[in-house]
Amino acid sequence: MKADVANRHLDKISAPTSSINKTHSRVFAGIFVVVALGIMLSLTACATSTGTITGDRTSEGSDNANGSTGNLKVIASIFAPYDFARQIAGDSADVSMLVPPGSETHSFEPTPQDIIKLQECDIFIYVGGESDAWIDDMLSSIDTSDKHIIRLMDVVSTRDEVVAEGMQGEAPDNQGEQQGDDKGQENTSEVHQDEQDEHVWTSVPNAKLIVRAIADVMMVADTDHNAAYDSNAQAYLEQLDDLDARFREVVAQAQRTTVVFADRFPFLYFAEEYGLQYYAAFPGCSNQTEASANTIAYLIKKVRDESIPVVFTIELSSHRLADTIAEQTGAQVMLLHACHNISKDDFAADATYLSLMSQNVENLKTALN
Ligand SMILES: [Zn+2]
Repeated sequence: MKADVANRHLDKISAPTSSINKTHSRVFAGIFVVVALGIMLSLTACATSTGTITGDRTSEGSDNANGSTGNLKVIASIFAPYDFARQIAGDSADVSMLVPPGSETHSFEPTPQDIIKLQECDIFIYVGGESDAWIDDMLSSIDTSDKHIIRLMDVVSTRDEVVAEGMQGEAPDNQGEQQGDDKGQENTSEVHQDEQDEHVWTSVPNAKLIVRAIADVMMVADTDHNAAYDSNAQAYLEQLDDLDARFREVVAQAQRTTVVFADRFPFLYFAEEYGLQYYAAFPGCSNQTEASANTIAYLIKKVRDESIPVVFTIELSSHRLADTIAEQTGAQVMLLHACHNISKDDFAADATYLSLMSQNVENLKTALN
């Protein structure tokens, strides 16, 4: 950002060609150095703060200044796979997250320091969807021959992104083919065949496949800690089984199976896994945040018609739309956490995929009854 501003500034003042250009170049050089220093300083600050993300939650004091412990280095782009990797790693590997806590994953842009960190890791885990498409470009520009790369969308069977009835999609193109009544979104939704939904980790069975895949790679990459990774993964998979059973029980005993999101809807895999019907303002990774009057009216009508008690929002989101719908309908606003990323406070409080999903179990129970 800063560099961009500086460049634009340079373009402007370097336009006239005259003898004073030399003076200008010296000034530009000065500006450049100052900007570069500024960037270096802010990178240092970032490096310090991301240093705390490293999965060394234990006493080991071997971490030296540049974070090099000789341990296996794992970097995950976003929170869910980061947490899976650190559960498997225990004390035996250094796991870090590329996106800083509290930041929006869909608009994340890596710093030069991030790229350097990536070049030094042994295992890199990313999603492989539309919002981290920049990672494919970045990976093709660095030497990855000494790395294991795990793309989550290769680990599970992916689904086409759905723009369900009432969602404010990005210019749906074949509305004429819609048919049926509005009993369920199956009849009236559109499938974006060229775009795969990237939120694969939101279904617990998918999370288990991802955990197994990460553990297998860590075991190959670091045979010294092979047994530890395997047993940590086994123990974690059992906890995920328990979580999965809790979601199934909530849905099995619920009075309704419809959920309403006054937000984006990154829960396609989750909803399909547990048999939930859904209405939402926007599809999974939509960049839209302003709901149209039609969208608001549609959601309000659904909440009223079906006496829906809870309107969901997702993490790190403005509650404005949810609050509007809640005011009009008397529904309460609750969070269903999609685990893209977590807030700084949650991060400091050691929130995990399991703790956030356990809260989701409770909130879902309220929403379905
Ligand atoms: Zn997303």
